[in-house]
Amino acid sequence: MNRIDVEVAIVGGGIAGLWIANLLLRRGIEVALCEGRAGGLSQTSAAQGIIHSGVKYALEGAATPASQAIAPMAARWRRCLAGRGEIDLRSVPVLSPHYHLWARGGLGAKLAATLAKQPWAGAEQVAAVDYPAPFERGDGTLFRLQDFVLDVPALCQRLATPLGERLLKVRVEPRHVAVAGAKVSALRLDALEVRARRFVFAAGAGNEALAAAAGHPTPMQRRPLQQVFAHGPSPAPIFAHCLTDDAPQPALTIATVGGCDAIGGALAEAGAARSEGEQVAAAEQALQAALPGLDWRRRRFDTLRIDRAEPAQADGRRPQQAFAAIGGNCLTVWPVKLTLAPQLGDMALKALGT
Ligand SMILES: Cc1cc2nc3c(=O)[nH]c(=O)nc-3n(C[C@H](O)[C@H](O)[C@H](O)COP(=O)(O)OP(=O)(O)OC[C@H]3O[C@@H](n4cnc5c(N)ncnc54)[C@H](O)[C@@H]3O)c2cc1C
Repeated sequence: MNRIDVEVAIVGGGIAGLWIANLLLRRGIEVALCEGRAGGLSQTSAAQGIIHSGVKYALEGAATPASQAIAPMAARWRRCLAGRGEIDLRSVPVLSPHYHLWARGGLGAKLAATLAKQPWAGAEQVAAVDYPAPFERGDGTLFRLQDFVLDVPALCQRLATPLGERLLKVRVEPRHVAVAGAKVSALRLDALEVRARRFVFAAGAGNEALAAAAGHPTPMQRRPLQQVFAHGPSPAPIFAHCLTDDAPQPALTIATVGGCDAIGGALAEAGAARSEGEQVAAAEQALQAALPGLDWRRRRFDTLRIDRAEPAQADGRRPQQAFAAIGGNCLTVWPVKLTLAPQLGDMALKALGT
């Protein structure tokens, strides 16, 4: 059996595992990362790549714990993109340097009045003459947010590169977690043993079983989504949250990635229980109402079902910030949002004592 001996072994090669691996490598700490995906989608590969500034989480006018946790993140990502942050992301393309908020009905006027009285950090109203094509014929008010959109496959590629041969394409089953005393001693795979002083479970939906096998049960929740994709000719890329009257959450969150519009938001959450046909019909109706200037009937639609995996919350809702819990020599992490990777990195370094 082959054996690898490192300081930290990480399970999971989504944003959480890749981000933490890069922080440790930059500190000269030997790392191995086990990624067991066999072609399927992870949360990270399904992400639209929006780096949020926090405005989306403060739509009722006041800051929330979620908006406060996320607000400092955009500046940290921007420093990384400029080569001056904790990780050098200069090679990662920015698909859109800002994001729009498109508020229809009374909500647009209400948000504009709020903004005039008390400017939100990171949001400005766009003059109607400057509306980009997708919004020209709509009945909403447009705001430009400081949120921006990254090319997620390029981000993951950039973060995977420094791992080289230490990025191991292996799936770690709970039975592979070898426990000695109160600590995990190794990941004993079929033809390979990965020994480490410390272990990081960054396996998204796989974390709950791994942490339990290590003797440190960490309750997890799943929030199912049915994301919609609109393929085919689109006159211009769209990067926008679309709000309907008085809803505190975007009804639609649209990002044009790889020539196709990925559509999330409340539609994707509410649509988890719908059939694909029902979800496509609901999406067409909502898109036509939000952006009537575009011919949505000429598009081809399909959907993707995927669960968000997060630390369990008493109310089952979205956690407000990233999560890292240490048990023995194991750290279990969930970033909760791609945007929160820098916050998760801080938490992980502190918990690992580096
Ligand atoms: C549709 C969608 C869109 C989103 N859009 C955004 C967005 O625009 N902006 C934003 O900030 N956030 C967004 N998010 C949230 C964000 O994508 C997630 O919070 C984040 O990607 C979670 O990262 P992760 O590394 O914890 O999990 P994952 O990305 O799921 O990665 C876990 C990895 O672990 C691997 N793995 C699992 N079990 C094992 C095992 N036993 N052995 C080895 N490997 C294993 C998996 O193959 C996977 O690659 C979105 C989420 C979804 C679902």
